[in-house]
Amino acid sequence: LVVLKNVNKHFGALHVLQDIDLTITRGEVVVVIGPSGSGKSTLCRTINRLETVDSGDISIDGRPLPQEGKALARLRADVGMVFQSFNLFAHKTVLENVMLGQIKVRKTGKQAAEDKARALLDRVGVGTQADKYPAQLSGGQQQRVAIARALAMDPKVMLFDEPTSALDPEMINEVLEVMQQLARDGMTMIVVTHEMGFARSAANRVVFMADGRIVEEAAPDQFFSNPRSDRAKDFLSKIL
Ligand code: ATP
Ligand code: MG
Repeated sequence: LVVLKNVNKHFGALHVLQDIDLTITRGEVVVVIGPSGSGKSTLCRTINRLETVDSGDISIDGRPLPQEGKALARLRADVGMVFQSFNLFAHKTVLENVMLGQIKVRKTGKQAAEDKARALLDRVGVGTQADKYPAQLSGGQQQRVAIARALAMDPKVMLFDEPTSALDPEMINEVLEVMQQLARDGMTMIVVTHEMGFARSAANRVVFMADGRIVEEAAPDQFFSNPRSDRAKDFLSKIL
């Protein structure tokens, strides 16, 4: 479903993505881990074209990423993204946040968009917060709204870039549970996270990055119990 072939990217002299080859099949949950600065966020951002690449090919559903215009807006809808900072529209209600993209990008009618938004807000457990503004919600609630907003676009794949890193500990689980449920429902997901419990229980595959390269890829059991590379061993010894 998502294919990256020999992708390279530089920020000036920094070679931030080096010869990245990665294929994610439909329904697969891939957890990306690695030290700070290894290129995990940049990798996510290239997949919905928030960053361009210098060379290599990225395709989704067999189609190369569009360059601009409406096709790019549709790509961003097809590739739902949830960031560390919740990025909700502050001056719109929770309900409006989840309706907006449906109406603007998917051309859904207002009533249908509202019905779908309410159903999704219920699904992520914040149905009763629909008429509030983001600032009136806890971080965990805001992040669940951000997930609902992405889901409202019927994405083909969901990217999560450290979705729980900005949350107080007691709110982390409520967000991880929503993600676990999504994974069980068969959503294709790419998740950058330091939550190794989530990686163990939800991931089909762990991708370990260091210095802009994919150093190791393995099933979670195998990766955590028996990492092959010294870089991965070193990284795991620091975080586990
Ligand atoms: P973290 O775990 O800290 O989030 P990361 O693996 O997500 O790290 P990236 O954010 O992808 O790492 O950054 C990789 C490298 O690219 C870092 O050295 C970073 O400073 C650099 N970088 C990221 N974005 C830019 C940018 N827009 N301009 C210049 N350098 C950048
Ligand atoms: Mg990052």
